[in-house]
Amino acid sequence: MEWQPAGARLQFQAALPAKYPRKVSTTPTAPRARFRSQRIARFTESVIREMTRLAVRHGAINLAQGFPDFPAPAALKNAAAEAIDADINQYAITWGAKPFRDAIAAKYQRTYGVEFDTEREITVCCGATEGMIASLLAVLDPGDEVVLFEPFYENYGPDTQLCGATSRYVKLRAPDWSFDRDELRGAFTGRTKAIILNSPNNPTGKVFSREELRYIAELCQEFDCLAITDEIYEHILYDGTIHTPIMSLPGMRDRTILVNSMSKTYSVTGWRVGWVLATPDLTDSIRKVHDLLTVGAAAPLQQAGVLALCLPDDYYDRLSTEYAARRDHLVTSLQGAGFKCFIPQGAYYVMTDISAFGFADDSSFVRHLISHVGVAAVPGSSFFCPFGGRQSICSLLFLQKT
Ligand code: PLP
Repeated sequence: MEWQPAGARLQFQAALPAKYPRKVSTTPTAPRARFRSQRIARFTESVIREMTRLAVRHGAINLAQGFPDFPAPAALKNAAAEAIDADINQYAITWGAKPFRDAIAAKYQRTYGVEFDTEREITVCCGATEGMIASLLAVLDPGDEVVLFEPFYENYGPDTQLCGATSRYVKLRAPDWSFDRDELRGAFTGRTKAIILNSPNNPTGKVFSREELRYIAELCQEFDCLAITDEIYEHILYDGTIHTPIMSLPGMRDRTILVNSMSKTYSVTGWRVGWVLATPDLTDSIRKVHDLLTVGAAAPLQQAGVLALCLPDDYYDRLSTEYAARRDHLVTSLQGAGFKCFIPQGAYYVMTDISAFGFADDSSFVRHLISHVGVAAVPGSSFFCPFGGRQSICSLLFLQKT
């Protein structure tokens, strides 16, 4: 059957043989509802995308979207161009090109002293986004529960829902975004399969301390759960703060799935190259989902990734130092404009208390900011459980050239 313009559709239906149903609704909404799965029915549009659209319409500076406006390292771009030129242009091994997996393993050995079997414990995927959903689909069943710290990166809620699992939220409380240990313990039940941990954290900038991680590790062991960690901001740290992968703590090597990517560390969010580290049994399941979802990440960019993961330590020091200057610049400007800022220890978000400005809620404040001041931010409610209600916080990103 050839494609037909809309006007020809009715004529085409009239010509169908009797076995095809003729009574097709002509209103667009009915078939759309029919073809929208229950799985996604509760999903709403990303607030960040909406704010970005509004920012474009108003010509506002966009401090709502998570990508840098400065160039990626030249050596990395050259390596990618050379890889394409050398005809590394066909599928890589589905769980990742061997040289890239070797480079990932060597970096974790060098940085954290954790060893990985490159053949059985590493899956290269299309960004941390795919790494997280592939991991959750690999381990969760409908009815399982997942513990999430709130506020949280906006994908985790829908990711959990896509698996048919239920999220249980535990509050991180300003100003230091600490959590109540009893509240966390109370969120674990016999149905809990995993806790999702994001440190350094989007959006709070919190870096979980070793003591906090130890307590979470104890709960994972007591309740026989996994820690699924998103460590995408591991190298964006301030004021001497240290990042500890929970996987490196005693008892956690075989009950952690570590998700990470090149996006933030190497300023290449558009390359879509990430990885998942886990024991062979977990990796086996994750690779099956990954293969079905995407087959594999871009082969030439994995090749360039080898160079990235072999960069010397001073690359990471410089990354943090440059972001620290941007953080200080933004915080000083915001404070000067009357915002109360919660100073981040890592990642590149500043959470601000906007209650002093007298707006009804965070969304109307951000809309005002975009249309009247020319700056886009993320309303705080987008980081809370569905329908997080009114919030008196908003988050701004410091990814602009200073
Ligand atoms: N995880 C967190 C916490 C993020 O903030 C982001 C992007 O903003 C992502 C994952 C997306 O990562 P990737 O680009 O590797 O898919």
